[in-house]
Amino acid sequence: MACHRLDSATQIWPTTDEDADHRLPLVEQAAPVLYAAATSSADERESLAEKIERWRYQRLNKYGPRLSANERRLIAVLDLATSKILQGHPRPPKAPRAAIHSGACSESQLDKGTRSSDFAGFEAVLDPHVPLEEIAREAAVVTLRHFRSLPSEATQRTARNDELAPRGVTPRWRMRLYAPLYLSNYCVNHCLYCAFRFPNELDRVHLSVDEVIAGAEVLRTQGHQHLLVVAGDFPKLTSTDYLVTIIRELVAREFSVAVEVAAQGTVSYAKMVRAGARGVTLYQETYQEELYSRLHPRGPKLWFDWRLEAPERAAEAGMKRLGLGILVGLADPALDIRCLVRHGRYLLDRFPEVKLAFSLPRIHEAPDGFKSGVAVDDETFIRLYCALRFSFPTADLVLSTREPRSLRDRLARICITQMSAGSCTAPGGYTGIENGSHTREQFPVFDHRTTSQVADALERSGFDLSWDGHDD
Ligand code: SF4
Repeated sequence: MACHRLDSATQIWPTTDEDADHRLPLVEQAAPVLYAAATSSADERESLAEKIERWRYQRLNKYGPRLSANERRLIAVLDLATSKILQGHPRPPKAPRAAIHSGACSESQLDKGTRSSDFAGFEAVLDPHVPLEEIAREAAVVTLRHFRSLPSEATQRTARNDELAPRGVTPRWRMRLYAPLYLSNYCVNHCLYCAFRFPNELDRVHLSVDEVIAGAEVLRTQGHQHLLVVAGDFPKLTSTDYLVTIIRELVAREFSVAVEVAAQGTVSYAKMVRAGARGVTLYQETYQEELYSRLHPRGPKLWFDWRLEAPERAAEAGMKRLGLGILVGLADPALDIRCLVRHGRYLLDRFPEVKLAFSLPRIHEAPDGFKSGVAVDDETFIRLYCALRFSFPTADLVLSTREPRSLRDRLARICITQMSAGSCTAPGGYTGIENGSHTREQFPVFDHRTTSQVADALERSGFDLSWDGHDD
């Protein structure tokens, strides 16, 4: 094992690195760039920054919570070096796991959002003895206060012409509709709860750019302009270049694009931003680290810190919208929702200009052999969304078609501001490549309505629909 003194002048900073032989040339390459003693192209800077960022995460992954003081200093230096090489805005270094352990979000601050409603903190919102109807009513008031928009002509006309519509449509808010667009179900990860996991026998498909565009055009005929591009993690296929090409082609066709793909480095996110992506959705799944390791036994997703800090890297790269979430059913939801709120607060603290969105995908079906750790019933599920609404009154709350129609309609009237509609979770599903087989799906859809059926039902309930995702 090589031993290297990072600060050879003062010799006060010893640390060990078995990869020192490999790292030293990197340090020598970085020094003149950092001290502006060398000119370098944007490509050279990005390539260097990628390597230094990787180095930081390799140390974090290796030592996890057992970082020594010297390791912490090294990690901070590598973070600042990455940012400086990329010519990012000056900012304090990212402290490991600050997103969930930050003193910037104390227990009392954590409860502040829920206490500013009529309820005394998280405990009350999640307490089954406090009537759900009261909580839901208050959540709807908060949502209406922040998302109300004047009903469009179309909404008013639909409501007038529909005999089933309630007399005098109840005022609602703007509801943004979107569709997931799956590119590939190849994945190198072993996430125990996911049908795309590497060892699963699955009909694997990776779409060409033309096939992706064909799917997007089908969605356009249904009204969709806001697409969430989704792909498994298979670096050889779903490379940054591939994803950037897809984003650029969709944006050129006037779609609004967000991505839900593997956690990326800052440079990859920056390339996606330059291609026109507006947002990143990335769920931590669970914030309970030990459980996280058991659920992700192999593959790059095993790197807890790499995933935890991905939204932050995306924000640094210029993404305007960040979608966070937990996979409900893995861990005690009361624990995970608190971590999720902490994460959101931390991000808003560092990036006040960013728009946050939250989603709570819930496990209904999983691959054979996987048992959901915690059963979360509908009532608790609604309470979790309400807790998010009180904590983040202006954040979009997102609901997918994993949930059945009746629950989606109910939650829409409480606090949801963004919904998918007419979704298929298999690559090629919108153009018939999938041929009706369910063996390519990531998870089954439980709201089987078409896009227009969802849209009609929302308009009849008084929602004003937004299709393009550009109206932040
Ligand atoms: S959850 Fe994502 S990373 Fe994990 S196996 Fe499924 S597609 Fe791959």
